[in-house]
Order: sequence, then structure tokens, then C-alpha cells
Amino acid sequence: MEIWSLAYKDLREGLEKGQFSVTEVIKTYLTHLRLLDKKLNAFILIAENQALARAKELDAKLKRGDRLGSLFGLPLAIKDVITTKDLVTTAGSKILKNYQPSYNATVVEKILAADAIILGKTNCDEFAMGASGENSAFGATCNPWDLSRVPGGSSSGSAAAVAAGQTLVALGTDTGGSIRQPASFCGVVGLKPTYGRVSRYGLIAMASSFDQIGTITRQVAEAAQVLQVIAGFDERDATSQKIEVANYHTLFNQPIKKLCVGIPREFFGEGLAAGVAEQVNKAIAKLEELGVRTKEVSLSTIPYALATYYIITPAEVSANLARFDGLRFGQNHWSNKLIDYYKETRGEFLGSEVKRRIILGTYVLSAGYYDAYYKKALTVRDSLKKDFARVFKEVDLLITPTSPTVAFKLGERLQDPLAMYLADIYTVPVNIAGLPAISVPCGVANNLPVGLQFIGPAWSESLLLQAAYTYEQVRGEFNLPKV
Ligand code: GLN
Repeated sequence: MEIWSLAYKDLREGLEKGQFSVTEVIKTYLTHLRLLDKKLNAFILIAENQALARAKELDAKLKRGDRLGSLFGLPLAIKDVITTKDLVTTAGSKILKNYQPSYNATVVEKILAADAIILGKTNCDEFAMGASGENSAFGATCNPWDLSRVPGGSSSGSAAAVAAGQTLVALGTDTGGSIRQPASFCGVVGLKPTYGRVSRYGLIAMASSFDQIGTITRQVAEAAQVLQVIAGFDERDATSQKIEVANYHTLFNQPIKKLCVGIPREFFGEGLAAGVAEQVNKAIAKLEELGVRTKEVSLSTIPYALATYYIITPAEVSANLARFDGLRFGQNHWSNKLIDYYKETRGEFLGSEVKRRIILGTYVLSAGYYDAYYKKALTVRDSLKKDFARVFKEVDLLITPTSPTVAFKLGERLQDPLAMYLADIYTVPVNIAGLPAISVPCGVANNLPVGLQFIGPAWSESLLLQAAYTYEQVRGEFNLPKV
């Protein structure tokens, strides 16, 4: 078995028993990563020298018999919207092509302190806006299951890289589905924690009241291990919360309580592909065989979720992206007149989806339309939160498909933003309400992976991970593609 196909548990055991060194692991990964990236384009930057230097340090640490961090020797890749001190961070945008951050994001500090190794920065839709990876200024990423298809987005490179074995784990961000939807398209596990669970200090913001950092892994246990490290209060992020972080990965040996799971009718209607519905229903039946009680529920505000999302998030985008003007941040297009300086800099170095959202956001926030759009959307947001709170009085968790279809063809939806936005119809409600959710592969349709989404109440990561793990065990092995 290749080193890059080992689960972290086995990799760690091999390292501790001296079957291979950290340097060997990282060299193997880097060779595999480079080879496949010619086809996939999952990485914007490969941190070869840094990774090898760090591997050497970790080998020395092991030799000395020092205490090893909980992610010791874990090869990890980072979505390029998360700042890294020694590595250029582009957010998938031309405007930040040469941006060298002066500090590490909190999550980066934490994974480094736990002895993980950064292999590189992964490709993504520009400023995390997109559902296919095609909005990156550095070219689209291909889906390792079928190179003519998208890997999903915006954490496109992170999901493709984990599925292809270019890295063992990747960090992503999820504003409306950008961890779960690409995880679903690539057949891997995507965890979006509760809003406020993981520090966003050092994350280049898209929509600040939605953004959350999370994990993309091959297995649920790995998601638990990495979450354990990155979760927790951070005084540098005003939205992070002081809520106890459980010992997520030791939960798996404990019996799970008798679950009652809600199946929300609104997620199984028009637009759901037959092949996806079939796999999701099979997964639900498997859980029922285990004794999980299921119950049909209704969330009547769901039909308004996507529209609400596409009013509030552009509003926040228009404010957050004002700083990329060539003066405060980003490369510039020089002009003697200030207005031309802005116009040309932003006109040339920002992509069309980003510009569309800035314009949309400025519009919904403008004096004449604020009440009609933005304020109304905030009211709907509130109703949606209440709707979720009501069903979580009746059931422990919800189960839904992650995305209505399997991965679509590259180019297929580029001219049709609405079709693109629909790829996240089942994931955005979770971010609107700030809830945690996880996508786990549950089968294939037309030889492409299908994702099953578990949604929980705020701060229910333990239960969510336990339920997803239980399902993963009954589902059995899920083989990743050979690229
Ligand atoms: N696809 C959604 C969008 O384009 C979600 C993005 C995200 O979660 N970052 O906004």
C-alpha cells in the first residue's frame, strides 16, 4: 500500500514504529502531488522546501523522544484564502497574486503547534465565491473522478487534493457550502463547524456573518482529530465563542444514544437528481436498520434560503472587498487620477463573479433598496433560524442530500449564474442559521460520488461526528478514484 493512501491512524503508527520517517512520508506525498497536479491543478503553491525542512525537524523531534503533537507528521494543505506567513496567499485572485501575509491565521498556528506539515496552498474560486472552482484566476481544478468535470467549489483544490491523495487532509472554508459541496462532488468528508467554533483570524473574509473554517478529510475520524486542534475561543476573533471543545476523537468508542433524525421534505423535491435521491434514501434505510428513528419534518422557510443568501452575502462582500483597491491591499494599475486608479485596478484584477457580487451588494445596500432587499432578507434569516430551532426540539439531527446533483461538466454552468447558485441550495440554509453540518460520501450515481449531509443544532459537533462516523462504519469502504 502506498504511503499516501494510509489513514492518519496508520500513518502515525508507522511513524512511531519507525517503519518510515516523516521525511519519507513528505517526499512521497510531494512526488505524488506534483505528478497529479499536472492534471488536476489543485494547488496554487507547493511548499516543497518548507515542508521538507519541517519534516526534518519533526524527525529529529521523534528521535529525541519529545512529546509529539496530536497531528504529528500529518500532511495538510490549506485553502488559499487562509493567510500563511511564509507562503504567498492569493485568495484565488489576480489582485493578490503576490500578497505575502505578515502573519499566520490562528488555524495555521494551531495546526503547526500540533506538528502537522503544510504541503501547499490549494486552488479555490476567487475570494471563495463560486461552486465549481472555475472562478479562480489560476485556472480551474479538475475532478479526480472525471477530469472533464468540476470538483465543486469554492474549496475546489482542497477537495480534489484529498480525494486524489495529494494530501491527507485539507482546510477549507464554508460560507454557503464551499466545504460540503466540493467534498460531496469528490467523494470525501467535509465538515463545516458551528459559526464561532473555529477562529477566523487570518481568513480573508468573504461574508463575515457566514464564513467558517473547516476540514476536508477522507474519514470522519480525521475530521474529528483536526477539528479538535483548530476549534476553540480566540481573542483575536470577536465572533469566536467560549464554548467548551469536547474530546471529539475519543467519542467514537462510546455508544451513541438512540437518535431521532429528521428528514426535511423541502430537501427532497423538485431539482433533486434521481440518482442522488436513490443513494441518500439507501443511506437513510441503513441508519434505520441500525435502530435510528427517522421522521419526516418540514422547514417552511427553506424555499427562501437561496434568495436570502444571495442578498445578504453580496452585501457583506461589497463591504469586505472594498479594501482590495491597490492602495490598501493588492497590486495596482497606476493612474494619475484617483478615480481611474480605483476603476482600472479593480476592473483589471478582479474577476467577473466577484464584480457581479460587489455590484449586487452595493445595490441591495443602497438607500433606495435597503428596506426592500437587505432588511427583508435579514427578517427571513431570522425566521429560518427559528424554523431550525423548532425542528431541533423534535429531532436530534437532520439528514439531507448535500447537493442536488453529482459533479457537473467543466464549463456547463459558467454562462448561467443561477444554475451555478443552485448547486448550494441544500447547503446555504445551514450557514444562514450558523449551524454545523457534515457531508459524508454515501455512494455513487453515474460513477460519480454522492454526499449525505447531517445537520445539527449549534455546538452539536460531537453528536454530528458520532452520527457521521456510525454511518461511515455501516456504509463500509468507499474507494477513492485512481487518477
Ligand atoms: N457557492 C457559494 C457561493 O458562491 C458558496 C461559497 C462559499 O461557501 N464560500 O457563494
